[in-house]
Amino acid sequence: MFDVAVIGAGPVGSRFARNMAEQGVKTVVFEKKKRLDEAVCCTGIVSREFVEKYGISEDVIYRNANSASIFTPSGKLLHIERDKPQAAVLNRPALNEYLGRYAIQSGADYRMNSNVVNIEKDARGVSVSVQSGHGPTETIRAKAVAITSGFGYRFTESAGFGRIRDFAMGVQAEVEAPELKEVHVFLGEKTAPGFFGWLVPTASGRALAGLITRTKTAGFMKEFLEMLSNRGFIPRQEPSVSYAGVALRDIQRTSASRVMIIGSAAGQVKPLTGGGVYFGMMCADIAAQVLGQAFQADDLTSKSLANYDKEWKKALGKEIKVGYWGRRFYEQLSDRYIETLFDVVVTSGINRTLLASDDVTFDWHGSIVLKLLRYQTIAGIVQAIVNPLKKNK
Ligand SMILES: Cc1cc2nc3c(=O)[nH]c(=O)nc-3n(C[C@H](O)[C@H](O)[C@H](O)COP(=O)(O)OP(=O)(O)OC[C@H]3O[C@@H](n4cnc5c(N)ncnc54)[C@H](O)[C@@H]3O)c2cc1C
Repeated sequence: MFDVAVIGAGPVGSRFARNMAEQGVKTVVFEKKKRLDEAVCCTGIVSREFVEKYGISEDVIYRNANSASIFTPSGKLLHIERDKPQAAVLNRPALNEYLGRYAIQSGADYRMNSNVVNIEKDARGVSVSVQSGHGPTETIRAKAVAITSGFGYRFTESAGFGRIRDFAMGVQAEVEAPELKEVHVFLGEKTAPGFFGWLVPTASGRALAGLITRTKTAGFMKEFLEMLSNRGFIPRQEPSVSYAGVALRDIQRTSASRVMIIGSAAGQVKPLTGGGVYFGMMCADIAAQVLGQAFQADDLTSKSLANYDKEWKKALGKEIKVGYWGRRFYEQLSDRYIETLFDVVVTSGINRTLLASDDVTFDWHGSIVLKLLRYQTIAGIVQAIVNPLKKNK
């Protein structure tokens, strides 16, 4: 019998598995992909803070970024730049391989090509049913299970946790972009209503182009690629695209007796952008600490594991709450309001003040939202938008 079964070897599952194995906990990881470095529908932009905190090897990084170009719906450009790199563009499949390798070296047992089809809990443990390729289903027993299977609600729902409270759809394509030097972000109803489109240089004249929307994702992507080539950002081409759900808000409860939900499966993401690698791995560390202590105390009850909920919400709860408010507010903005806010930010130099401020960082959007609201002009515009919205509710 294993101590803990981990469902999914994304960054969160592998970080968690490594932590558990390092504590001497007998850990098995099931991953439905055949290889750890298979393609992932994710852009892989993370902060330098993340890279340094987790000691991510420079070999996994395509490039660092200290600037970005943000385009308003009408095409006005806001160029932001800092002296030092703020973000890194990771080779996402390589990150999965890198984190998985560490977990294996620490003693975790990795079972690739192993699709978990069912999880059942009883008084003495958890039964995980796994299918390898077209082979028969095998059932493995563990004392506890960590659901790190990414976006989706199959296991969270069957285990009684319900679904993540909000999500959208992401789409991405690898494109040729020989002239592209920095990250480009595109705003507006025609590109990605309520969200944004991106063009992110990776390596060897290539880039990732993608966007997030709530509806008609394929149609928006087609238009977006068309716009990028019409405006000369990329040569005309017809790349293959991939889709994946993007969690935007956490599920209410992430633990029960013998069960923990971590990462995208739990909606532990930045609600404004849907970026989830950093927050998910932070939560993996917290979960591993709580579960390690629970094993030591031989107490896998819901009360004992609820410390995981408590601790990760202490670390990220406010950030996610404010970020989600920012997300809902941004989704209400028409193109006209985006242009107005943009003009106010640029003409009054708010962008320069924010860039000069140390606590405005790539990951912590809550503090950016709160800082913006301290400007009377911005607060006035927000009031003007929020009040009619309230009346129309
Ligand atoms: C288009 C797009 C762009 C994004 N860009 C960024 C970005 O730039 N930066 C950022 O931080 N985040 C980004 N994200 C979000 C990011 O991809 C996720 O937050 C992150 O991958 C979450 O990690 P995870 O380990 O929780 O889940 P995942 O990375 O999804 O890993 C889950 C793993 O579980 C496996 N699995 C699933 N079901 C089963 C099963 N039944 N049995 C066995 N294995 C299973 C999967 O194969 C997968 O390997 C993006 C998302 C999308 C869709």
